[in-house]
Amino acid sequence: MTRVLLAEDDPAISEPLARALRREGYDVDVRADGREALEAARDNPDLVVLDLGLPTMDGLEVCRRLRGEGYTVPVLVLTARADEVDTVVGLDAGADDYVTKPFRLAELLARARALLRRGIPEAPVTGDVDVRVDTESRRVFLHGEEIQLTAKEYELLRVLARNQGKVISREQLMREVWETAWYGSTKTLDMHISVLRKKLGDDAMQPRYITTIRGVGFRFDPAGE
Ligand code: CA
Repeated sequence: MTRVLLAEDDPAISEPLARALRREGYDVDVRADGREALEAARDNPDLVVLDLGLPTMDGLEVCRRLRGEGYTVPVLVLTARADEVDTVVGLDAGADDYVTKPFRLAELLARARALLRRGIPEAPVTGDVDVRVDTESRRVFLHGEEIQLTAKEYELLRVLARNQGKVISREQLMREVWETAWYGSTKTLDMHISVLRKKLGDDAMQPRYITTIRGVGFRFDPAGE
């Protein structure tokens, strides 16, 4: 059964949300406290829905610690602070997606489903490559060593890898990875590209694997040539 950890201290939000998530068929664990949420998040749920304003430890800190400990569970943030979105989903905290309060239940459920959805198996990359994306196990290997990616970093690399050797536009990446055009800002995409390059040991000034095509988008070469 798919396990969802819901960390939210306001029962006016957590109760109807937990009911809706259970109706979707998920096993829902509700925590109203940041420290307890961190503890529960270490117990390998399939998704964490995380309010930022939590007692004892705020949601940003919960997310930072989880990522710092190497957990790659998808994290969907609930925030009333739209100005913090880039911090939340970007480099700083490592969340995968967000909805701003007040949110529509249907939108939150759609985003939860998107984060939980398993990748459709694709043709394996053959030949001599440095970067191998295994879509069945959702694992990524660099020179044969597994590297840890968050759900969104993995999705981004998967879409790039599926189109390897071809230029893929920013719009297509936004649409496929975030299922939205992220009105106004592609800063989040840039931040995720930057983290991916770092994890692949790619030099941002002269990248070998993820090349920026100015004014268009990116091209991925798993052989780094
Ligand atoms: Ca709260």
